[in-house]
Amino acid sequence: MDGATIIDGKAIAARLRQQIAEAAASLRGQHGITPGLAAVLVGEDPASQIYVRSKARACAAAGLASFEHHLPADCGPAAVVELVHQLNSDERVDGILVQLPLPPAIDRHAVIAAIDPAKDVDGFHPVNVGRLWNGEPGLVPCTPEGCMMLLRSVHPDLSGMEAVVLGRSQIVGRPVAALLLAADCTVTMVHSKTRDAAAICRRADILVAAMGRPQLVGPEWIKPGATVIDVGINRLTKPDTAVHLVGDVDFAAVRAVAGAVTPVPGGVGPMTIACLLRNTVLAACRRRGLPEPLPFYVK
Ligand code: NAP
Repeated sequence: MDGATIIDGKAIAARLRQQIAEAAASLRGQHGITPGLAAVLVGEDPASQIYVRSKARACAAAGLASFEHHLPADCGPAAVVELVHQLNSDERVDGILVQLPLPPAIDRHAVIAAIDPAKDVDGFHPVNVGRLWNGEPGLVPCTPEGCMMLLRSVHPDLSGMEAVVLGRSQIVGRPVAALLLAADCTVTMVHSKTRDAAAICRRADILVAAMGRPQLVGPEWIKPGATVIDVGINRLTKPDTAVHLVGDVDFAAVRAVAGAVTPVPGGVGPMTIACLLRNTVLAACRRRGLPEPLPFYVK
C-alpha cells in the first residue's frame, strides 16, 4: 500500500522563491535596496564550484545581487579571513557564505568566526548557534530551516509531538533538533553510538534522517502514520553504471507505513538554496532595522 503523502519540496521551494522575489522587488521599490549574497570559494573543488554557481543563478532569478570570490587552495587562512573582513564592511553585501569544505590547511571554525553574525546566512557562527539553542532570533542554518518548512506543510502545529533526529552534525542534525525543540517537540537525537536506533525511531511522530547512510531507514524503523523527512543525499552506482541519488530512507518501502515522506531528489534538497535566499533577505532587512517580509513560510 502506497499510503503516505509525498511532501513536494520542489513545489514548496518554488513558492518560497516566488515570495523571496516579491520581497526583494518591494525592498528595491520602497527602499532602493538590492539584498546581496557574497560567496567565498577556496580551491578548485568541482562540486563546490557547481554549488556556488547554482547559488548565483538562484540569486539572479530572485532579483538578489551576488558576488563570487575565488581564492587559490594554497592561499592560507589569513587571506580568507582578510577577505571575510572586507565583505563584513561592504555595504552591498548582506549575506556571506564560505563554501565548505575548505582545504585542510584552513581552519573552518576560525573563518566562520570571522563572519559578522548579522551577515552569517549559513547560520554557522557561534553567536547564531547560541541564539538558536537559547530560542533567540538569529540566522538559522538553511537545510534545517527547510526541513521545518516541509514539516509545517503537513503539521502547522508541532507542539507535543515526539521527534527523533538521526545524525548530530553541526550542519544538519544539531540545528534540526534545536528547531524542533523550539517548536515544542519532545526531541531525541540518535547517532552512530546509539543502541537500537530502530526501536527509538519507532516512537517518533516525526523522524528526520541526516546520516549519509543510503537507504538505512527501513519500514521497521517507522511508527505507522509518522512524518519522515529525508535529508540524506547519497550517490549509488547501479549495475547499469548510472549514478542514482538516494536518501537515508528506503523510500519505496517506508511510504507504505509513513503518513508523509519527502522524496530524494525533490524533497529537502530544493529547500536549502531557497532558505539561503530567504536568510539573505532577512539579513538585509534586519541590518537596516526594516520590518521583515511576511509570511515567508509556505504551506
Ligand atoms: P555528517 O557530518 O557525516 O554526520 C552524519 C551523522 O550521522 C553523524 O552525527 C553520525 O554519528 C550519524 N550517523 C552515521 N551513521 C549512523 C548510523 N548508522 N546510525 C545512527 N547515526 C549515524 O553528515 P551531514 O553533513 O549531517 O549530512 C548528512 C546527510 O545529509 C548526507 O547524506 C548529506 O549529503 C546530506 N545533506 C543534505 C543537504 C541538503 O541540502 N539536502 C544538506 C546537507 C547535508 P556520529 O556523530 O556518532 O559520527
